[in-house]
Amino acid sequence: MGERSKRCRDNAEMLRLPSFRYLEPRTLNEALRMRAEAGPDGMYVAGGTDLYPNMKRRHQEPKTVISLMGIAELRKVEGWKIGTCVTLSDLSHLPSFRRSHPAVVHAAELVSTPLLRNMGTLGGNLCLDTRCNYYNQTYEWRKAIDFCMKKDGEICWVAPSSPRCWAVSSSDVAPVMVALGAEYRLLGPGGERLVPAGRFYHNDGINYLTKQSDEILTGVQLPPPDGWDAVYHKLRRRGSFDFPVLGVAAWVRWDGPTVAEARIVLGGVASWPQEMPEAGLALRGTRLEPEAITRAAEAAYRPAKPLDNTDFELSWRKQMTRVYATRALEELRARRA
Ligand SMILES: Cc1cc2nc3c(=O)[nH]c(=O)nc-3n(C[C@H](O)[C@H](O)[C@H](O)COP(=O)(O)OP(=O)(O)OC[C@H]3O[C@@H](n4cnc5c(N)ncnc54)[C@H](O)[C@@H]3O)c2cc1C
Ligand code: SF4
Repeated sequence: MGERSKRCRDNAEMLRLPSFRYLEPRTLNEALRMRAEAGPDGMYVAGGTDLYPNMKRRHQEPKTVISLMGIAELRKVEGWKIGTCVTLSDLSHLPSFRRSHPAVVHAAELVSTPLLRNMGTLGGNLCLDTRCNYYNQTYEWRKAIDFCMKKDGEICWVAPSSPRCWAVSSSDVAPVMVALGAEYRLLGPGGERLVPAGRFYHNDGINYLTKQSDEILTGVQLPPPDGWDAVYHKLRRRGSFDFPVLGVAAWVRWDGPTVAEARIVLGGVASWPQEMPEAGLALRGTRLEPEAITRAAEAAYRPAKPLDNTDFELSWRKQMTRVYATRALEELRARRA
């Protein structure tokens, strides 16, 4: 066997899915029961576009995988409530949402590629694992550096003296949900609860969700389209395929021509979608004049602390926060004109 084909074979073997039990519940109660029986070795899956590549690299090693895709309730859209197993493609093709919540649709359309959006779901996107250059690698690669704190190791290679992991929240849709003030519906063994999107995320690369591991994210309640507007801008190397290295979600509530309330939320700069409260405050009472936009973009830029663990040079990524926040706010102003 030639050296090249041997290398290909070795790579393919390293990226094989390990064997696991695959279950297909038809109801939420059945899914919860299966998860309880599987214990900590069980995991839910939806489209599998994040979980299966991660299992190939041994980031997650569930012995039992419980698919949520056969649960009809999770694929429903009722009013402004979206079931979490709606795929990103279906979400972006819903005519009513294109009109009412264009920022959500736009963020969903910017995820990866059409093929992955056909499989990937809203729920999977909102629960996406955090990412890091030292983590999103094959098992052998990670082993060669003695792993890292997020999986199998002790140290953080990005900040070696840090007691925590700084892997990055890389979902395109999550920052928009936080900016909009959407609510997430969770179902667990203890019953159902509603959580504001902003409280669903933790600024910790390992424990990045506040959800219990056996809870199912069943739906997302969007605010009715009523006097507010929002946009999403994404920075990535290629125009398709790539995860965001920066996402800017900007939301404003209008009071006539004036901004009554505003939120700017950044993706790709921290382990959670990071709200920049000073930036929102800088817009209050303004009409999104250029000076107000400059002040808000500066307030979004200053606290943004991207680390050296994704694509592009980190100081340039930080500079881009100001640029992308400005562009997002200029788009909001143009839409109001
Ligand atoms: C090459 C490539 C490029 C990508 N680019 C992007 C990108 O640009 N932007 C982006 O945002 N994402 C990107 N992704 C990630 C992924 O494709 C999408 O985020 C997708 O929406 C994930 O959804 P899924 O249904 O496939 O998730 P899954 O893989 O099924 O699940 C992801 C995680 O969420 C959990 N989960 C899923 N649904 C639920 C639920 N209802 N309740 C509780 N837990 C749940 C799973 O247990 C798992 O931990 C990319 C992936 C690849 C492989
Ligand atoms: S931030 Fe540190 S601990 Fe977290 S995945 Fe990267 S190297 Fe590992």
